[in-house]
Amino acid sequence: MQEAHIENQDIVWKRINLALFLGLHLTMLLAIFTGVSAWSLALFAIFYVVRMFGVTGGYHRYFAHRTYKMGRVMQFIMAWLAMTNAQKGVLWWAGHHRHHHKHSDQEDDVHSPLRKGFWYSHMGWILDPRWEGTDMNMVKDLAKYPELVWLNRHNLLPVFSLGFATFGVAWAVSGDIMVGWEAAIVGFFWSTIVGWHSTFTINSLSHVFGTRRYETTDTSRNNLLIALLTLGEGWHNNHHHYAASARNGFRWYEIDITYYILWTLSKVGLVRDLRQPPRHVVEGTVHPRIQALQSAPTSEPEEEDPLEEHDATPATA
Ligand SMILES: [Zn+2]
Ligand SMILES: [Zn+2]
Repeated sequence: MQEAHIENQDIVWKRINLALFLGLHLTMLLAIFTGVSAWSLALFAIFYVVRMFGVTGGYHRYFAHRTYKMGRVMQFIMAWLAMTNAQKGVLWWAGHHRHHHKHSDQEDDVHSPLRKGFWYSHMGWILDPRWEGTDMNMVKDLAKYPELVWLNRHNLLPVFSLGFATFGVAWAVSGDIMVGWEAAIVGFFWSTIVGWHSTFTINSLSHVFGTRRYETTDTSRNNLLIALLTLGEGWHNNHHHYAASARNGFRWYEIDITYYILWTLSKVGLVRDLRQPPRHVVEGTVHPRIQALQSAPTSEPEEEDPLEEHDATPATA
């Protein structure tokens, strides 16, 4: 009885979430009334890149994987920037993402397209009330910072502040309220919605379309188009192979804009210690120390077992 009640409540919440989510998509159509100019399209492009960097360099490579370091003030600014994307708190995001890496494409994976289908892995899981909470056990390292816990709890604050600031500044500068609305709709709302779907493609399409350089235990793939769209996150097979790297494009030709921005920030001292993938990881070979151990002659050569069957198949590269 109790369980059925909770289930019904879940369905109601799922529908409310879906209605709100789709309703926000409709705000894009308000551009019919505000108009779209070259300046608002430029604002959209700038907002898209800067905020997407908040997702990739912030939520993902810093908070979820800790692939580089920064000071506490900078950490708070990065959390704020990431959260202007309306993808909930940094602790929530990092916790769910760590869970994804731990259970990639297994039954417990929250957003595996292999197990749960395209739409659920793309956005259904975000609207599902079962995944609304933050599992603090997954993010103990981040929960040490009270300012991050506070921000995680007030996750809409960065979103609303950016939305209102965009509207207010454009109105104040131009003296025309319609310019304020155009900046809010095209600059803020468009980049929010497009940014959502770009981020979601990592969970849905990056486990379906592309090539696999490394035999990881999941279905992750490398995809240039998704990498361009998501500032480097499309090198998803590289990333699942070695998630501790600040760089997802392992080879020079694998365009990874997030890494280029992080590298620039490290040169001016705002971030530091960008972790690199070791050579054996990039080459997909065995760690040199293990290789040395394997090739080292044993002190007592093992006697060949005459009963042991020899594998006649030649070794492949
Ligand atoms: Zn993945
Ligand atoms: Zn990851």
